[in-house]
Amino acid sequence: MTQPRKISFGKPWITKAECSAVLGVLAGDVLTHGPQAHAFEKEFAEAIGGGHALTLCNGTAALHLAYWQLGIGAGDEVIVPAQSHVATVHAVEVVGARPVFVDCDRATGNITPEVIAAAVTPRTRAIGLVHFVGIPCDMPAIMQIATKHGLKVVEDCALALGTRWDGIHAGLFGDAGTFSFYPVKHITTGDGGMLVTRHVDLAQKISRARAFGVDRTFAERAVPGVYDVLSLGINYRLSDINASIGRQQLKRLSAILERRARNFAALKNGLVDLEHVTVLDITAANQTNSHYCLIAILDGPLAGQRTEIIRRLNAAGVGTSVYYPHPIPRLRYYRDKYGENLSRFPNATRISDQSIALPVGPHLEIDDMAYIAHELTTIARDLTCSKIS
Ligand SMILES: *Cc1c(COP(=O)(O)O)cnc(C)c1O
Repeated sequence: MTQPRKISFGKPWITKAECSAVLGVLAGDVLTHGPQAHAFEKEFAEAIGGGHALTLCNGTAALHLAYWQLGIGAGDEVIVPAQSHVATVHAVEVVGARPVFVDCDRATGNITPEVIAAAVTPRTRAIGLVHFVGIPCDMPAIMQIATKHGLKVVEDCALALGTRWDGIHAGLFGDAGTFSFYPVKHITTGDGGMLVTRHVDLAQKISRARAFGVDRTFAERAVPGVYDVLSLGINYRLSDINASIGRQQLKRLSAILERRARNFAALKNGLVDLEHVTVLDITAANQTNSHYCLIAILDGPLAGQRTEIIRRLNAAGVGTSVYYPHPIPRLRYYRDKYGENLSRFPNATRISDQSIALPVGPHLEIDDMAYIAHELTTIARDLTCSKIS
């Protein structure tokens, strides 16, 4: 008999290095947006292999700044996925633009070049995509559509640290890529975010807009307290306390990604023979999944049994989650505002209603994966038999 375990869905990996980094900042002179934040930006850009990186207070702030500083607003349409974290679309809504929802692909959970092309209208100004749980969107083909129609592209990379297409990191294809350092993401700073862009002019605008629109930083002021304001801005900075944690986390990024890849492969392999259960993943070798979690989709006789399966998995000590519980147009705010015909989003709906997100984080070992696969298999077989008899 297998022993019950305690496998949490997500667990931040905090070491003594993070603790002493924080104490170091607290003992110093600069607590916010100083040397730690600047070093974190430089090291982050190096880790992903390019772009200008800007620390921000969270991933949603990064998305908001991206649309705002790209000049997207009232009267503009932005093509967005029906399946994502609500922040992907809230950012479009907050700047006053209209989100135009498209369904995702059945195998990857991502929006595709085909559905994007079909949704373009004369009002379309941007594409706001997400790399669903770290599986890359087909960026070369999407950028072709964007170029053809003169559209901006914002990549929500909140779960895509380590995601690549043809070896190029997510966030470096479009006009802006946004990352989140919320505790359960690949790396954490407590709360925090990063925006990356290939465009130096956009980087400058965003750098200014994240700090009140002032023309010079604290360190650049010849006379203390004297500055001018060049443009509208807000305060979306990341503190040096948070940034110092991120720098330590970043040092373990390759170890984190390796463990996630190893765990994902083991769990996926453990589920290959399980009927009525499909796993979302990349579809070709030129794609790199960041393996945020493993999405198992329940079909056939298991489709209506998700709540019971989750209950039994949790009872066996397996932490689970749902990414995401509703297609965004089905969330109350969006339903009331746009009243979309939800039958247009069958694949997004299937993920919301029939999937379970299983853990593959670096806090877990290979035998945890064997345990999860064994438990899910036992539960699924039991429920399938009882349904048939
Ligand atoms: C977590 C997440 C966000 C929001 O990031 P915060 O840092 O919590 O603001 C946005 N999009 C996706 C896909 C996410 O997973």
